[in-house]
Amino acid sequence: MNNSKKTFLSVNFGCRVNMAETNQWSQTLIDQGLTPSKESPDIILVNTCAITKKGEKESINKIKFLSHQYPQAQIYVTGCADFDKIKNLPNTTLFKNNQKEDLLNHLKSLYTPEIKDKFSHTHRYLLKVQSGCTQFCSYCIVPFKRDYLWSLSINDAVNTVKQAANNNYKEVIITGVNLDQYQPGFSTLVETLLKKTNIQLISFGSIPINCIDKKFIELLKKYSSRIQNFLHIPIQSGSNKILSLMNRPYTKSDILEKFNKIKKIIPRPVKGGARGGFLFGTDIIVGFPNETDQDFQETLDLCQQIGFSKIHTFPFSPRPNTKARIIFENSPKISKEIIKSRSQQIRSIQV
Ligand code: SF4
Repeated sequence: MNNSKKTFLSVNFGCRVNMAETNQWSQTLIDQGLTPSKESPDIILVNTCAITKKGEKESINKIKFLSHQYPQAQIYVTGCADFDKIKNLPNTTLFKNNQKEDLLNHLKSLYTPEIKDKFSHTHRYLLKVQSGCTQFCSYCIVPFKRDYLWSLSINDAVNTVKQAANNNYKEVIITGVNLDQYQPGFSTLVETLLKKTNIQLISFGSIPINCIDKKFIELLKKYSSRIQNFLHIPIQSGSNKILSLMNRPYTKSDILEKFNKIKKIIPRPVKGGARGGFLFGTDIIVGFPNETDQDFQETLDLCQQIGFSKIHTFPFSPRPNTKARIIFENSPKISKEIIKSRSQQIRSIQV
């Protein structure tokens, strides 16, 4: 197919893993000579999200809008949203989550490669190293949508990061749906990238608590000038009762122990002066079924003790098929006012 003057639009919903995938598809189209554009695009890519009911609705509404607004465009949809709601749209082709590689191959087959250009000019390279999750946290829909586990080999990760550094990227952001299920081991990956590439900075989309092992702490000490000093570590709650109901694989004392170890690290000076210690971000689910005032207070106290500079709060959202939905249906409801007040209290303690 002739690709001269063809344009495309990418729309991403959800996490950094989705973002990394969307970037990869956009790069593929750019490599074939297409130009990103919002004016009558020929191709539209939509990577959907269903982590919350609201997020899923936004994804579906956007696809309906795009289909209506750009009837001439070919729309490719993938991701976690429920495709039943859009299966009859005229100009739309659906690729389930386990067909994302097929989507990539399809995009590659559409046009003959013409020009090479870098997609991102931000100097931050999103590297997806893992996909899928079988942890089955009780509130989460992801394992129902992405239950196949995939890990990028360490060799491929090293080669990709070397190439990114050669292309002038200063920073690589490591992402995965659940990095705790990165098969060769998260700390081993980080160690190898630090030793075998000259990338200036490594950062992370989101680090599961259980990835913070002895080796990772040692890497933070030894390579503090090459590791982003902001670490996003989702804890979700500070109450052991709620963590257990959530099926999170750690307790409150595990959380404290890991954060305390990182806080003790004195960062090495960087070019041009000293660098501050590590800063933390987290995610908290507010109003999980059976969360009492006491449970919430424990979360608040723990967050205060750790001192997060960024806290994303999410009101509990019952998702289809999840255990938490059953717990939710059989528990006294927590009012919207209480959920709002708890969210505000959590946000107000950001340091
Ligand atoms: S670790 Fe838990 S919250 Fe994260 S994707 Fe897996 S099931 Fe969902």
